[in-house]
Amino acid sequence: MNGGSDAKTAFVLAGGGSLGAIQVGMLRSLLAAGVRPDFIVGSSVGAMNACYFAGEPNADGVERLARIWLELRRRDIFPFTLGMAFGLLRHANYLVDPSSLRALIERHLPFVGLQEAKLPVHIIATDMQGFAVTLSEGSAAQAIMASAAVPGIFPTVEVEGAPLMDGAVAANTPLWLAMTLGARRIIVLPTGYACALERPPASAIGRGLHAITLLIAWQLIRDLERLPQEIDVHLAPALCPLDISPYDFSRSGELISRAAAATQEWIADGGLSRRATPADLAPHRHVRHDAGQ
Ligand SMILES: [Zn+2]
Repeated sequence: MNGGSDAKTAFVLAGGGSLGAIQVGMLRSLLAAGVRPDFIVGSSVGAMNACYFAGEPNADGVERLARIWLELRRRDIFPFTLGMAFGLLRHANYLVDPSSLRALIERHLPFVGLQEAKLPVHIIATDMQGFAVTLSEGSAAQAIMASAAVPGIFPTVEVEGAPLMDGAVAANTPLWLAMTLGARRIIVLPTGYACALERPPASAIGRGLHAITLLIAWQLIRDLERLPQEIDVHLAPALCPLDISPYDFSRSGELISRAAAATQEWIADGGLSRRATPADLAPHRHVRHDAGQ
């Protein structure tokens, strides 16, 4: 239901590795409050969440998604943490064999083509010139793989002959595309970033993912600055302080329940009647930098 011809509501889910679990908690509280989207836009891990949710866009679907996250382990997505050197030898242009990620996606997706989802879903990927490519039909698994193809870590994914990579590096963001797709009310479900990490993630992939979560947050701030005033935009609360690396898949339960509680509180406090501002995601410090190091 649209609730009015030009009052379309979109949920926007951007990337963030393991922090994608946060979006599950946000979805749980938004649905509990009776908030439902007319369509959903996803990028990177948000593309995976968006597709799962679009297959069953109700509270049961959210709980099903929560169970997937609770069972998810790092090796389900990044199987070669110890064999990276072999990976480097075998694959010249990427580090991680994507077959585990593809198997994970296909195991849980309740539909094949994006156009078959119960809720219209649009996935963002990036072409080699940096343009955003919006995928709204065709293989959902292929679209998610393309959208989550972090450069250097996963291989590019060909869609209709064009090699595509992670949606996070596109010139246009999922928030902007939600507007161009006709949304007049946009609710962003940010994964945020680990603002309270004591030290950089230990691994190369962890550091790369952390950097991407920062990029996504800064893009979001710029989007909120330039989005036309007539667009009603709301930002579910990012978790702060957060000390969980986007490469740590062992704390999904904690992320889901913290995000659900924070979102419930935000809704009760009038979050859905307040327009989001860039200050909602402002850079800040928790970590004390010791002198002399
Ligand atoms: Zn913080």
